[in-house]
This record gives sequence, structure tokens and C-alpha cells, in this order.
Amino acid sequence: MKIGFIGLGNMGGPMAANLAAAGHDVRGFDLQAPMPEGVQSADSATDAASGADVVISMLPNGEILRSVAAEIIPAMAAGAVLCDCSTVDVESARAVATQAQDAGLGALDAPVSGGVGGATNGTLTFMVGGDDAAFATVSPLFDIMGQKAVHCGAAGAGQSAKICNNMILGVTMIATCEAFALADKLNLDRQKMFDVVSTSSGYSWSMNAYCPAPGVGPETPADNDYKPGFASELMLKDLRLSQQAAEAVGADTPMGAQAMELYRTFVENESGLGTDFSAMLPRFEKRSRT
Ligand code: NAD
Repeated sequence: MKIGFIGLGNMGGPMAANLAAAGHDVRGFDLQAPMPEGVQSADSATDAASGADVVISMLPNGEILRSVAAEIIPAMAAGAVLCDCSTVDVESARAVATQAQDAGLGALDAPVSGGVGGATNGTLTFMVGGDDAAFATVSPLFDIMGQKAVHCGAAGAGQSAKICNNMILGVTMIATCEAFALADKLNLDRQKMFDVVSTSSGYSWSMNAYCPAPGVGPETPADNDYKPGFASELMLKDLRLSQQAAEAVGADTPMGAQAMELYRTFVENESGLGTDFSAMLPRFEKRSRT
């Protein structure tokens, strides 16, 4: 396939490299990131998009996605598919899909879970919104870049699934960290706490697969001085998107709102910026009830 790839940063770079390594003809564009191995350099986003069967974007936010989409949609070949893999607000995802469909193109919102490791190893999970035909076109590419692609529904459904998942993740990570901090103060050994909770009703991905306590459970960013991993500011971004969506549809999400506020404080006023999102544990450790 001829693929245009726009946004070759931490995630987009290895995703584009995997598509090229699988034998696809990939033309990439980024404002500053280096060209990944096997990817031909385009002069502009429009240059990368014109003549492509599928254009994939992996950009920082909805505003940038909207401006890139407005630029490339008129240049894309009739019947081509625009597949945005960035994490953006549901409204931007739907607006871009409508614009693409009005221009005779297919459109998918396909945010990912799995981080830079998943992007590098081709083991991402894609959560996809859009029509069946566009999903069928891009499916072979999802198979190269990831291990699973779930077609969640119409335009915006991929972003909706992503922010609901990450709202649960933020809340459970905070709950896991505050429980470890409580266990410390109760003189309960962290390993014993893990042994019990990871096989009891308090278990979760945050405890079992991404344990925030160093030296306990599987190897995680906690064992590497809380270097990300999944950075606290990215968790804050996703929690903000979940609350923006909740506000738009009038959903009551008190735990999500509280998680957003805690990560905002951690990132903006404390030492959270640039740390893994599980560094909430040393944050709680240092605090006491006031
Ligand atoms: P990044 O900042 O490393 O990459 C974004 C790239 O987009 C940069 O290289 C930047 O130069 C480029 N860019 C910005 N504006 C552009 C434009 N107008 N034209 C062309 N290129 C442009 O970010 P990332 O970590 O690769 O994340 C990308 C997306 O994936 C984000 O939406 C993020 O929320 C999401 N995501 C990231 C992770 C992660 O662990 N890093 C995990 C899941 C989802």
C-alpha cells in the first residue's frame, strides 16, 4: 500500500518504521522529528498525503489534527482513508471524520494503548471508530502495528473507548498508590500487600501488571526510578479529555474529575512532570493526612 504518515514522534516514528519494514511504501512528514528507517521524506503534510491509499496521523492534540486535516483532505485521492491514531477530543475526531467523508474519503479515529514499547514492538491495541469499509481497508496495517484492533462503532467511538479506559486507569492507579501508602503507615509489608491484593478483589492492571511499588510484582517504571513508561502529563491529558467529554454529554464522573485534579496538581505544582504516572506512590508516601 502507499501510506502517508504525518507525525513521526515517540509513537509515530516506530509505527511508520514497522509499516516500512513490512514492505509498504511509506512517505512521512514531521515538523522536526527525524525520518524513521525505511520511510521516505515528504516535503510537507500535503506531499505525504497526495496519492496515498491510507494516510495515518499521530499528532499531539485535536487542534493540530484539525489544522493538518484541513490541509491534507483536499489533496487526498478519492476513496483513500484518513486514519488518525492520535489521542484527541471526541468532538475533533467527529469533525475531521465528517470533513473527510464530505470530500469522498474514508475516515477512522484509531487511538492506541500500549505506549512507546507497544509502538516499537508492533503490539499496540487500536480502538477504532468509523465505517466498516474504512476499517477493512486499514485492518492489515493495524495487524502490523499492533496485536489487536477493536472496531468500537461509528466516528468518535475509538476516542470514546480510549478516554473511558484511561479514566479507569487513572482512578485505579491513584487508588492503588494511596492503598500502598496506607499499608506503609499500618506497617503492612508491601510484598504481602501485593500478594494479597493481586489475587483478591482489589486487583487491577495498575496493581498486577504495573505495580507502582519498586521491587514488588513485575518489573515496571517503579523499578527504574519512575522514568516513563507513561508520563504523568499524558495521563493528565487523557483525564482532561475524559472530563471534557463528560461535560459535553452531561455524565456524572466524580472519580474521574478527582483523578484529573490530583494529576493536575502533581504535574503543575509538584514534581510530577516527566515522571511515570505511577510516581503517585512516592507522592502519597511523603504526605500525611491533614
Ligand atoms: P510526540 O510529541 O513525540 O510526537 C508528536 C509529533 O507530531 C512530533 O514529532 C511533532 O513534531 C509532530 N507534529 C506536531 N505538529 C505537526 C504538524 N503540524 N505536522 C507534522 N508533524 C507535526 O508525541 P507521541 O508521544 O508520539 O504521541 C502522539 C499521540 O499519541 C498523542 O496524541 C498522544 O496522546 C498519543 N499517545 C501517546 C502515548 C505515549 O506513551 N507516548 C501512548 C498512547 C497514545
